[in-house]
Amino acid sequence: MTTDPLAAYRDRFVGATSELVYFDGNSLGRPLAVTAEHLAAFVTDEWGGRLIRGWDERWFDLPLTLGDEIGRVCLGAAPGQVAVGDSTTVLLYKLMRAAVAARPGRTEIVLDRDNFPTDRYVADGVARECGLTLCWIDVDTSAGVTADQLGAAVTERTALVVLSHVAYRSAYLADGAELTRIAHDAGALVLWDLSHSGGSVPVALDEWEADLAVGCTYKYLNGGPGAPAYCYVAARHLDELTQPIQGWMGATDPFLMGPVYTPTTGIRRFLSGTPAVVGMIAVADMVELLDEVGMAAVREKSVGLTEHAIALADEVLAPLGVVVASPRASSERGGHVTLVHPAMREVVAALWKQDVIPDYRDPGGLRVGLSPLSTSYDEVDRGIAAVREVLA
Ligand SMILES: *Cc1c(COP(=O)(O)O)cnc(C)c1O
Repeated sequence: MTTDPLAAYRDRFVGATSELVYFDGNSLGRPLAVTAEHLAAFVTDEWGGRLIRGWDERWFDLPLTLGDEIGRVCLGAAPGQVAVGDSTTVLLYKLMRAAVAARPGRTEIVLDRDNFPTDRYVADGVARECGLTLCWIDVDTSAGVTADQLGAAVTERTALVVLSHVAYRSAYLADGAELTRIAHDAGALVLWDLSHSGGSVPVALDEWEADLAVGCTYKYLNGGPGAPAYCYVAARHLDELTQPIQGWMGATDPFLMGPVYTPTTGIRRFLSGTPAVVGMIAVADMVELLDEVGMAAVREKSVGLTEHAIALADEVLAPLGVVVASPRASSERGGHVTLVHPAMREVVAALWKQDVIPDYRDPGGLRVGLSPLSTSYDEVDRGIAAVREVLA
């Protein structure tokens, strides 16, 4: 049995004592028990008690105060560069449009064919809207974009490079600093999607000299279904970049209700409409817990869990024809492991019926999502044993 110094943190989550095996915390994290109390208190005291005064007292600034906390604890971002609001999809659109407008004369967006669908679809829409061309990198679906591949794809025509830090299918962990440098050497901006790394893998946006980033809060930040996303814009770009959804919440003096839109200063200009306050309550709880534990310790457990899952897969699933379709070097792997077998679609359906919950991604991939603070080693043992039984 592996010793786990973070084992006790599991007790802080709803469902900790149930027998259910949850391998989908990378799609929808479990709620923290304290969040149930905070949401109830929010309804009775803050919303119900303070009413409209809540905007002045806390809610108006929450997209930026929570953004700063996410930036400090999870993203390696100094204050004033992260805002919370909208969905990841909408923020991708806003930042891609802002980026291509800041690189006039350049005609291409570089991205890979295995990036998450919404990233590819939004890039396609932005390219159509702005008369640009998409330049596709073909990647191995059990790995991700390498430095050589990116180096061969970027040119003096590249306006923007769009990359996932951890690939949603394979969990391939890209080298943020190196790929950012390669994009910059070609004069392009880079937009990182951190949906599968924020809260699981340490990120160092300022150190990488990243330009732009977005990420989900309902995966490893346990914000709940539809919780708002976050965006990062490096301080050096904040005066230069403007976004296309010119709403009043990102304008100067929103309550003057002026005749024309003038973007306000700082990261607030990336907000558009009224922020989703309720959705931020749970995120704040998880960010506080991640701060208490520290992202280095979280990553250490994440690596331990994925190594354990791979070792078990090699031992009991490989003889049944299962192949590990994630990087074997933990330095190149994020927080999940994909196991491939032609029958996995049916296997996952059968597992759900017995309260073992991984997810399925074509072609033939069962994703073992391992949320570091809520997943136990025992859960991994029981889950992999269940996969073996169903396959056999
Ligand atoms: C989960 C995920 C998204 C989800 O976007 P939504 O707008 O929240 O639906 C986007 N990109 C990546 C890479 C993801 O993993």
